[in-house]
Amino acid sequence: MFEPEKIQVIWLPGQACTGCTISLLNASHPNLLDLLTGFIPQAAGVTLDYHATIMTPWGEEAMKAVDAAQRGELGPFVLVLEGAIPDESLAKASGGYWCVIGEDEEGNPITFNERIDKLAKHAAAIVCAGTCASFGGIPSGKPNPTGAMGAMDYFGKDWKSALGIPIINVPGCPSHGEHLAEVLAYAVLAVRGFLPLPDLDSQNRPVFLFEHTAHENCPRAGLFADGKNSHEFGEPYCMGLLGCKGPISHCDVPKRGFIEGVGGCPTVGSPCIGCTEPAFPDAPLSPFLAKAPAGFFVAEKIHSIPGSLEAVWGRIKETLMGRDI
Ligand code: SF4
Ligand code: SF4
Repeated sequence: MFEPEKIQVIWLPGQACTGCTISLLNASHPNLLDLLTGFIPQAAGVTLDYHATIMTPWGEEAMKAVDAAQRGELGPFVLVLEGAIPDESLAKASGGYWCVIGEDEEGNPITFNERIDKLAKHAAAIVCAGTCASFGGIPSGKPNPTGAMGAMDYFGKDWKSALGIPIINVPGCPSHGEHLAEVLAYAVLAVRGFLPLPDLDSQNRPVFLFEHTAHENCPRAGLFADGKNSHEFGEPYCMGLLGCKGPISHCDVPKRGFIEGVGGCPTVGSPCIGCTEPAFPDAPLSPFLAKAPAGFFVAEKIHSIPGSLEAVWGRIKETLMGRDI
């Protein structure tokens, strides 16, 4: 019988709203309990040793796992970052801090940045939960007073863990709970050697989740192809004219739904605002209800011409040959 080595998870919040945690709690296939109770045998043995929102210990007891991980005494652990990473030098200049987690033995605050600098040296893998940890997200929106950034900007795009695993970004504002659960399970299986590392795109997003755009995954795409546009909210057609950024945003949420398959932004009448993209929440994703650059829609229409003609011509040819199918 497979006896898995324990893999611990340290989930550290930076400049975060806790929305990605709420999303993880809403995941159902798999859900958090599945992960923690070994529903997937090869991914069993996972413990959530630190999570500011949902752990039971508090105070010094709570910080023990983080302190041990920083010293390299915890065993293999996956570091999950939720929230952007601030530039503490900006706060220091005015004598303060942006983001603090616990304190040292003399009672001095320990910044989030000091914690992750040490944790990153020992982590088996770093997973970024949400767009803030991945790319800076909302805290990094212009004018970005805290100098907020994502983990790839902070550690360097080429950063790799001691096991050779690059930073894995799971963006979304919030990230999809099942994206997080699937990637965490995947990371555990990769750390144990059961799976190869997931293919990542140029923004270190897993290809199996982020290969296609929201537009490609949208149930309204057929209406876009048919030239049927919504001109007011509540109409059931393509929302490109209402500001939808689906053609420039990589996301499977319109197809997958958000909770238990329900929801999904454009699917349910809310234009995509491009929350999985590095530029979010700045242009070209915002203003959120301004139309996306026309070029993407023009290119989409032009790209569709050869395929549409092929489909029509194939049909005509079969009919002319007397083989109506
Ligand atoms: S609603 Fe948005 S994502 Fe859906 S077809 Fe229209 S532009 Fe594309
Ligand atoms: S459809 Fe757009 S706004 Fe909705 S989750 Fe995906 S990228 Fe974000």
